[in-house]
Amino acid sequence: MSLIANDYSVRRRRMVEEQIVRRGIKDQRLLKVMKEIPRHFFVDEALAVQAYGDHPVNIGQGQTISQPYIVALMTHSLGLLGNENVLEIGTGSGYQTAVLAKLVDWVYSIERITELSRRAQTVLEKLKIFNVNLTVGDGTKGWPENGPYDAIIVTAGAPVLPQDLTSQLAQGGRLVIPVGDRHLQTLLRITRKGGKLIKEELGGCRFVDLIGEYGWRR
Ligand code: SAM
Repeated sequence: MSLIANDYSVRRRRMVEEQIVRRGIKDQRLLKVMKEIPRHFFVDEALAVQAYGDHPVNIGQGQTISQPYIVALMTHSLGLLGNENVLEIGTGSGYQTAVLAKLVDWVYSIERITELSRRAQTVLEKLKIFNVNLTVGDGTKGWPENGPYDAIIVTAGAPVLPQDLTSQLAQGGRLVIPVGDRHLQTLLRITRKGGKLIKEELGGCRFVDLIGEYGWRR
């Protein structure tokens, strides 16, 4: 292993211990995956060191790769066991997609900005992550052809809960989504149980806008 690769693996370990474990997430499968995936591959080379900071990082096109703790919190909140069919809205850099892909059977991910989706695809292939399908489009409508989903994760802030997403949840399926105004949202977990949708509030958060037919109109 080169000195530089070693340096990044130290940064990753510290990121997990100091930003994630210290805030109470103890899910060993998730922690292992976040210690392994080279998060700096998902940002511009000039920002590589920042990739391990306790904050989001710019990925161009006015978008960000989410803060490591938020990735961990959202993933943990999905309660994944390993055999799930997952839908992600907001591929962005592809980092959250990679974390999910290492934990479940299959991940479908939608991004509205073509350039970001292309870049994410390239990085995922470089890391030999092949249990993913990426597409470009309006994720507020979901991707009904591949559903229903055991878990759906929305990585951009929505003004309201998009009905097309809850209707694509499998029985027992979980949807984690930030909902609120453009400056502050509440992270929600919606679980389909029988004929009901159970709503839990997981805390405050701040995301870029979910833009689309059932999101913000730009
Ligand atoms: N999961 C990402 C990562 O790990 O880098 C974080 C992505 S960023 C916080 C949110 C992404 O959602 C942006 O790339 C944005 O373009 C995308 N987005 C916003 N509205 C969308 C929509 N309706 N459908 C799909 N993607 C959308």
